[in-house]
This record gives sequence, structure tokens and C-alpha cells, in this order.
Amino acid sequence: MSVRPNSLEARDAASQMHPMVNLRQYEKSGGLIIESGEGIYVKDINGKRYIEAMAGLWSVAVGFNEPRLKEAAIRQMDKLPYYHTFSYKSHAPSIELAEKLLQMAPVPMSKVHFTSSGSEANDLTCKMVWYRSNALGKPEKKKIIGREKGYHGVTIASGSITGLARNHECFDLPLDRMKHTSCPSYVHYGKTGETEDAFTQRLLTELEDLILREGPETVAAFWGEPVMGAGGVLIPPAGYWQGVQAILRKYDILLVADEVICGFGRTGKMFGCETLGIEPDVMVVSKQISSSYMPISAILVNDRFYQPIADESARLGVFGHGFTASGHPVASAVALENLKIIEERDLVGNAARLSAHFAERLAHLAKHTLAHSSRSIGLIGALELAPWEGTATGSAAAAIAAAAEEEGVILRSVGEAICFCPPMIITQSQLDDMFDAVGHALDKVA
Ligand code: PLP
Repeated sequence: MSVRPNSLEARDAASQMHPMVNLRQYEKSGGLIIESGEGIYVKDINGKRYIEAMAGLWSVAVGFNEPRLKEAAIRQMDKLPYYHTFSYKSHAPSIELAEKLLQMAPVPMSKVHFTSSGSEANDLTCKMVWYRSNALGKPEKKKIIGREKGYHGVTIASGSITGLARNHECFDLPLDRMKHTSCPSYVHYGKTGETEDAFTQRLLTELEDLILREGPETVAAFWGEPVMGAGGVLIPPAGYWQGVQAILRKYDILLVADEVICGFGRTGKMFGCETLGIEPDVMVVSKQISSSYMPISAILVNDRFYQPIADESARLGVFGHGFTASGHPVASAVALENLKIIEERDLVGNAARLSAHFAERLAHLAKHTLAHSSRSIGLIGALELAPWEGTATGSAAAAIAAAAEEEGVILRSVGEAICFCPPMIITQSQLDDMFDAVGHALDKVA
């Protein structure tokens, strides 16, 4: 893209330091500037319309420009635009949202703590894990096990649990307390001749060996997305999560499920934990909680997690944590309305009903000469491309994503995969439009 002087693109490149880009390249190329949205579509400043096949950043469940969310925000703005939840104060929107989340949780949860982003929520969960170990008189039990390719955010603790080199390099991460075990993606890491069952067993043995090597008394928690999203939509084999949970129970290690992408229907059930048979101690949710119309995230903790922390705060006199925006009333009101819409319009059912068609269309694309394979669950999936010889990793996926953008579909490339995570209001014919356009993009590049 050539950037015209004084254009919005030029002003953007001159003024902002954008996340997740090559900053030098951005100075020259600028970015795509989106102006408006409607349903599953967004429009750029030149009036070109795109299917947002990633729901923004895996997040806009109810589509762009949902009037009920706008009205909920205005109603709350009129009544009480801001109040906090510190120092023995509260307000109805945060109370109602906490109650709603506890009622929706797939396993019994005791309390909710609000934050504003997925990173913050994972970061605080990590601090609470340490606080809890101290409260239990186990100050040595502090290590956390994440997974290669797992994504939990970019703050110092969450970025350390993340298992992606690009989020560590040069940032002096990960912290020493964070360890990583293998990624459960058979298609990427299965050895030649290894069955899926043997692969799962190898990973479980590796996890147990890691715990034993570190000392089970030093390992406090295991972190995982039910299905890895930002790592490239990586779906674990059957039996993986059951095996992981058995090991964690054996060594008294907490399980934190990061539902930031999977939560609220993405995998075809309300939570990824239900789809994958996970019973966590802590659930972290964000993104589709408010369709990202307002920044909000939440940590749901069970009784075994909460009680020692509450005891310790009583001993110390205070739970010394919180943000100015914790449980923000406008964000809470919007989230509550968004969850109502997800339920009333049965968007989880929509994801479940469309999942077979979604998988079929992806599998059809996987027959293309440029493709390697496909995978999906619910309404999240990826097309793995055959790597191009003699080019940097990810060249094929980046080229297809760029061609798809020309065809009017915004996708995300991760490694050699292009990822799909459309708004959950999408219809079957809109899914067809999306896959037809990506098919044209593949043909163009071939
Ligand atoms: N956890 C998961 C599973 C995510 O996918 C993300 C973001 O994509 C995060 C945490 C971080 O959320 P945020 O970008 O709101 O900090």
C-alpha cells in the first residue's frame, strides 16, 4: 500500500505505535483504516466492505453495530457513568454481571473479580495463585506451567505464561517461575509414525516429568486455553485434557482455564471447558463477554481457590489489588446486555448448528494445491497451508491473507495457517460467501 501524504493512513503511521506489527514497515506501508461496521461486515475509509472473518480479534460475537449494546451503554452513562469497586463500594451493573457469570459457569464457582483485558485477568490470576500459596503456608509453591503456543496476553506475568517466542524475545520474558510444556497439536508436533493416542501419551508423560523435575511442591498452577486460539487454532486430541487433569489432581496443582477466546459459545457450547470436558479451579473470560464493545474481563474462582485468599486478606487487613476500572459500570452493563443477546438469539446453538458446514467448507479449501489440512471446532478453525520452499515461515499464509483482504475478507495469518473466527451471528450463506472469497484468493495466489 502506498501512503498518500496527509491522508488518514499517513497520519496514523506518523502518530501511532501499533501492536503486533513490524514498526519500521508500518511507518512506510501504514495500515487498513476501518470506519464502520454492520453485522458481520466492516467498511474501510474508502467505502470497501469486508467480511470480518476474525470477529475483530476473536471477539465480536453479536456483530458490529448492535443497537441494544449502544442503548445499554447510553442508559448506564446517563445513570452512573463511572464508579469504582474499591474500599467497600459497589454498584448494580457489576453485581448483576458477577451473578450472571456465576450462574452461567459450567462448574461451581464462588466469586468473580473484574479486570479490563485478558492480559490483566491472567496477570492477576497469577498474583492470586502466589497469594494463595503464601496464605496456605506454602511459599515454595509458585511455579506455573503454560504451554508452547499458548497465548494468555502480554503483561509481565501473562506474557510469561504465553508460549510464543515473539511475545518473549527482547522483553526479558518469561519470568523464571513460568515453565512451558509441549503444545498438544498432533498435526504440528506428532512424530512420523506416531498415532494420535501415542502423541497424547507422550505429552502427558512430558508434563508429569516436568512436574517431577521441578518438584511438585513447587508447582502451583497449570494454565491452558481449552482450544488454543492465537497460537493458530490448535485443537488438542481426545483424552488430552482428561490426562492433564488427572496429573494435576495427583500433584495438587490448580487448573486455570483461559476462556478468553473459547468462552460464550465459540466452540459450540457456552464454554470451551464444557466442549473439552475440563473442570477448572479458575476461569478467565473476556472478549465475547461484551463482544469487545467495552473492555472488560473477569476471573471466576472456585471455593478451594477463594477461601485461603479471603483468610489471608483478613489476616493482612486488605486484599491489596484492584484497578480504577475494575467492574466498570458501563462495561458491565454492556457485557450483561451482550450475554442476554447471546442467550436470546441462541448464538451458541447457531455456532453448534453451523459447525459441520464450517468444517466441510474448510475441508474443501484444504484440497487446494496451496493447502495442507484444515481443522475446526464450533465456529473457530484454521486452514494450514503447505509451506513455500525457500521463503520465511508464514509467507504462504501472509500472502493468502493479503489476497483474501483484496477479495473482501479479513483473516488472520498465524505461522503457516490462516485463521477463521467469524461473528457468531453469521448465517450459512454468509459462511459460503466467506469461503468462496477465500477460495478465489487461493486461486489468485496459486
Ligand atoms: N488469553 C487469550 C486466550 C487470548 O486469546 C488473549 C488475546 O487474544 C488474551 C488472553 C489477552 O487478552 P487481551 O488482549 O485483552 O489482553
